[in-house]
Amino acid sequence: MTAYRSGVPDNWFVDPVHLGVPGVRKPSEDDDNALAWQTDALCAQTDPEAFFPEKGGSTRDAKRICSTCDVRSECLEYALQNDERFGIWGGLSERERRKLKRRAV
Ligand code: SF4
Repeated sequence: MTAYRSGVPDNWFVDPVHLGVPGVRKPSEDDDNALAWQTDALCAQTDPEAFFPEKGGSTRDAKRICSTCDVRSECLEYALQNDERFGIWGGLSERERRKLKRRAV
């Protein structure tokens, strides 16, 4: 098996068996799982490519989806805490997240 590394966490996709119906996850469930919020991630139901565009590619579609996502703040917080370098997280690009971090310091 070939090992590879990308900006997407290895466990980005929540096991469909545990996914359940979006929006009905109880907040207390899976609290020990830092990625539990992904159960309600809108991007998991769309084209993941839009969230990891090639350099110079458009981020508009991904950001539009993020703007209506219920777990936007959890997603952004996770990306900031884990120093995610690639892709759109919580509606912000890498550059926008870096700016936000600098402002927070
Ligand atoms: S805010 Fe955007 S990137 Fe984060 S989970 Fe929602 S749709 Fe996905």
